[in-house]
Amino acid sequence: FPERLTQAMDILMILQNNGYKAYFVGGCVRDLLNGQDIGDIDIATSASPENVRQIFDKVIPVGLEHGTVIVRYAHQSYEVTTFRTDGDYSDQRHPDTVRFMQTIDADLKRRDFTINALAMDIDGHIVDLFNGREDIRKGLIRTVGNGVDRFREDPLRIIRAIRFSGQLGFSIAPETRDAMIAVKQDIETVAVERIAEEMGKFFSGACVQMGMDDLRVTAIHNHMPIIGAYPNLIDKLPEPVMPLQTFGAVITMFYRLEPDVSIHEWVKRWKCSNKVKHQASELHEAMSRFETDGLSRWLVYCLPAGCYKDFTVLIRMFFDSIYCQQDITAIEHELPIDSKRNLAIDGTDIRALFPNKEPGSWIGDLLNKIEKHVVTGHLHNDKYGIRDWIKWHQHVID
Ligand code: ATP
Ligand code: MG
Repeated sequence: FPERLTQAMDILMILQNNGYKAYFVGGCVRDLLNGQDIGDIDIATSASPENVRQIFDKVIPVGLEHGTVIVRYAHQSYEVTTFRTDGDYSDQRHPDTVRFMQTIDADLKRRDFTINALAMDIDGHIVDLFNGREDIRKGLIRTVGNGVDRFREDPLRIIRAIRFSGQLGFSIAPETRDAMIAVKQDIETVAVERIAEEMGKFFSGACVQMGMDDLRVTAIHNHMPIIGAYPNLIDKLPEPVMPLQTFGAVITMFYRLEPDVSIHEWVKRWKCSNKVKHQASELHEAMSRFETDGLSRWLVYCLPAGCYKDFTVLIRMFFDSIYCQQDITAIEHELPIDSKRNLAIDGTDIRALFPNKEPGSWIGDLLNKIEKHVVTGHLHNDKYGIRDWIKWHQHVID
């Protein structure tokens, strides 16, 4: 077992020693059986949230009404959920009632796909009620139970099917695909933040290009914000689509294909965070700079380090560039400064040079010019040199 799973065995052990049943469930079991790195570790147990709180020191109640708590243990977090069944979904979002159970069976039955409906106990014994293992072997995404019913209950599962296809490169079983098509309109009732989260995972998936086929065939994107109104956006995507780590990069990609919809509009309609907005704007700026000047020092200086990877993917997709992350880091290491704060001169120094001039926006403008000259190597980052430069270029501030 991977080390992280071995560590997490402690939690199962402790729950068992207290007389409860406990299993690893969901993505971690699927990824383990599929020979992939595991993401977060989810645990299902017969212990109630209250029981779990009594057993472990650090328990964060995150979704008590759904029976979920986070257990902090040996500097790791584990989502621990009480075995449950879901009642009806009259609002297509949250089950009306949640009933806690004593066995794992009903809990597995409420899960979306057979590959996600697997549980593993402390001895590595797998509970597989719906042939999930076989589907992993075959690379097949199939709903637990009747697809139409399960997608009606929670239409987010339609998007999750596509997400897993882009992440795992599995194919969607024909009857599941038909059900997706039959119910896809219901996607419009799903909270857009949930859609964004799954679509972000889809576009970051290692097999996103394979997933694109499922997206096109099912055309579920027609029921998502903006993309639904510009259906040919999906057809205009570069071939192949390559995995993008951030949702900001996904927005940048679409914005380049359809400049009529601004980044601001994307962020608003898809209810993204300011962080995503920032990523999208920075990546877009950098793409524009790349288009005119290539991989310049100024471009690298302005681009936040967290965007390097996505930037290389975007310029590969749009401009067939073969720059990699190391090329960017190499330039970054040569930069004389890494922010305006490292300039050898500041606003106070500049004011002192022009005692008779009213302070105003000219100071910031001048600092920006100096910053750019220093970064591009036209000016040394040295106090006296910068002062001389300012004197020689008095006209720029007048
Ligand atoms: P990842 O590796 O991305 O975390 P995951 O399979 O663990 O993938 P999660 O969104 O973390 O996906 O969900 C954990 C598990 O909960 C899933 O494997 C699935 O069994 C169940 N699940 C999650 N969302 C739903 C849903 N909308 N309907 C039914 N079951 C769900
Ligand atoms: Mg998970």
